[in-house]
Amino acid sequence: MKEGRIIKALSGFFYVQDNKSVVVCKGRGILKKRGITPITGDWVKYSIINEQLKEGVVEEVLPRKNEMLRPPLSNLDQILAVFSVKEPIPNFVLLDRILLRAEMQRYQIGVCFNKIDLEDKETFDGILSGYEKIGYPVFFISAKSGDGIASLRNFLAGNTTALAGASGVGKSSLINKLYPSFELKTGKISEKIQRGKHTTRFTELLWADEDTWIADTPGFSTLNASDLKYEEVKRYFKEFLALESSCRFLSCLHLKEPGCSIKKAVSDGEIMEHRYKNYQNIVEEIKSDRRYC
Ligand code: GDP
Repeated sequence: MKEGRIIKALSGFFYVQDNKSVVVCKGRGILKKRGITPITGDWVKYSIINEQLKEGVVEEVLPRKNEMLRPPLSNLDQILAVFSVKEPIPNFVLLDRILLRAEMQRYQIGVCFNKIDLEDKETFDGILSGYEKIGYPVFFISAKSGDGIASLRNFLAGNTTALAGASGVGKSSLINKLYPSFELKTGKISEKIQRGKHTTRFTELLWADEDTWIADTPGFSTLNASDLKYEEVKRYFKEFLALESSCRFLSCLHLKEPGCSIKKAVSDGEIMEHRYKNYQNIVEEIKSDRRYC
C-alpha cells in the first residue's frame, strides 16, 4: 500500500498527493462502516487501481494530530492571519477573532500585513510592537515587490499552514510569490466576489515542498465559536494572562469589576485598546447568544 495526503475532498473523491503525483481516490466501503470520513489534510494509505489514469482507493486514514470541522481540515500546525495595510485597510475586529479561534485550537499563529508598497510601514509601528509583545510573529510584506517574503518563507517552512483572511488582501498573490508554480488566480475584489458566486469554494492543500503545505481555507474567518462560554474568552487573550492574577477578584471578567488589572493596563497603554474592546464585544455577543463571527 502507498501513503499520501489528501489535498482536496470533493463530491466523494479524494485527491491524494504522493510526492509529485496526485491520485484520485474513492473511499473503501469499510471506512464508511467504521464511521470514518476522510478529510483534506489526512495522511492516508491507499491502493492504485489504475496506474495510467492515476485512480485509486483510500484504504485507511492515519491517526490525526488535530482536526478542525469548519472547514474540514486535519493535521494543521499553524494559522497565518493575512491582512493588507491598504486596499482594504486592516480589520482588527476580524484579526482578533481569527486569533481567538486559532488560540482555542492551539495552533501556532503568525500575523501578516501585505501591500506595504502602498503605505509607510511606520504607520503600523504600534500595531507591530503590540502584537509582537503578545507573542505573535508579525510580517510586513509586499506580494507585489517581494519585500519581507524571505522571513515569511522561514515561518512556513516545514509546517502545514492555513491562510486566514478576507478576500482581496492578497493571499493568492502571496502564495504565487512564494511558490510560483501554483499559478493561483488573483484579481480585483469585485471580480472575485462575482466569481465566488458561481464557483464552489472548498479547502485545498497546496504542497509547497517536502514538508511544507499551505491550506487555502475559505471560510476560516467566518467561523463562529458558539461552543465557547463567555467566561472562557479571556483565556485566549494571551496578554491578559500574566496580569490578571493582580485583579481584586479571581473570577474577574475584566468588564465592570472594581480593581481590575486588565482595565488598568489598557489605560496605561500596556494592552492595546482595540484588543480590549474586541474582547468586550465578543463576551457581550456570546452572553446575548448571538453568533459573533
Ligand atoms: P486574495 O483574495 O486574498 O487571494 O487576494 P489576491 O491575491 O487576489 O489580490 C487581490 C488584489 O490585490 C489583486 O488586484 C492583487 O494584484 C492586489 N495585490 C496583492 N498583493 C499586493 C501587494 O503586495 N501590493 C499591491 N499594491 N497590490 C497587491
